[in-house]
Amino acid sequence: LFPPNGPEEKGSRFLIIGAIGFIGQFIAEASLASGQSTYILSRAAAPCPSKAKAIKAFEDQGAILVHGSIDDQEFMEKTLKEHKIDTVISAVGGGNLIDQLILIRAIKAVGNVKRLLPSEFGHDVDRADPVEPGLTMYNEKRRVRRLIEESKIPYTYICCNSIASWPYYDNTHPSEVLPPLDHFQIYGDGNVKAYFVAGPDIGKFTIKAAEDIRTLNKIVHFRPTCNFLNMNELSCLWEKKIGRTLPRVMVSEDDLLAAAQENIIPQSIVASFTHDIFIKGCQINFSIDGPNEIEVSSLYPDEPFQTMEECFNEIVGKIE
Ligand code: NDP
Repeated sequence: LFPPNGPEEKGSRFLIIGAIGFIGQFIAEASLASGQSTYILSRAAAPCPSKAKAIKAFEDQGAILVHGSIDDQEFMEKTLKEHKIDTVISAVGGGNLIDQLILIRAIKAVGNVKRLLPSEFGHDVDRADPVEPGLTMYNEKRRVRRLIEESKIPYTYICCNSIASWPYYDNTHPSEVLPPLDHFQIYGDGNVKAYFVAGPDIGKFTIKAAEDIRTLNKIVHFRPTCNFLNMNELSCLWEKKIGRTLPRVMVSEDDLLAAAQENIIPQSIVASFTHDIFIKGCQINFSIDGPNEIEVSSLYPDEPFQTMEECFNEIVGKIE
């Protein structure tokens, strides 16, 4: 009943790099949920039990596992060609951003990839200017962007702002930790706003954008108006959910700069981003009006974002 080459595939063939990492899992889940042919790349030949479980869950949903590392150009060229990959989405972590330079060379050499989404998933690195050590990470992301552009590889840069969770200044993956139950730490006067996006929405809108002709060679900014909140508003929302008030402790600009200066990786990187977001306002101090940028809600006006209130409801449900 199938055509001679097997079941008809929907859309593109996606290769997700870092699919069992924190952000990558949301992307792989969304890719599988959307029915795309999904290949996942994992470095670990003998993964730890939790990673093995995550890989198995993806395979059960139809993902095809490929073992290897993006810093092996020959392997990457073979993988991209053999599996006829159309779209590459990289979600490698902060420590491996530079490995993507080899991936880009492989993509250029094979020539069959129609779009690359490099590991961004934060701020617009050409605009934001955090203090060190965050700046070093942004310089690496900028280097990756420049090589993609020089190589004339079609791209989309996803700038999804903050993941929906309590924005701890010393935790890389804040949505894996509960919001405060004893006291709040408020950055500066707590009045600088930021955009929060739930992990599954980062995945969902990344997959949509990856196939959308309107996002070709563009920066896609995530600015859901329903989740445009400052620390004071976030605190009140959480207090409403847990049914009690908590004391507030002020964390000043100098405190955040001191935490960044300690240069403990990755915590100090997070401190420098926290300073950039909640003191300097790096998510809100520019408008999206350049010819090569677009806001995601304007692309998919009928697709709702999970609200911060819904995210907090889920967390409270788990606590209870
Ligand atoms: P993680 O460290 O959780 O995961 C990274 C994944 O990449 C791992 O699965 C790792 O595989 C894989 N990987 C790393 N190097 C290679 C390589 N050479 N070849 C193949 N796979 C590789 O990363 P995060 O999810 O924290 O970060 C991903 C991106 O998201 C980053 O750009 C980061 O800045 C951003 N981010 C944004 C946040 C936000 O709030 N907006 C929050 C957190 C991250 P292995 O398992 O083998 O190590």
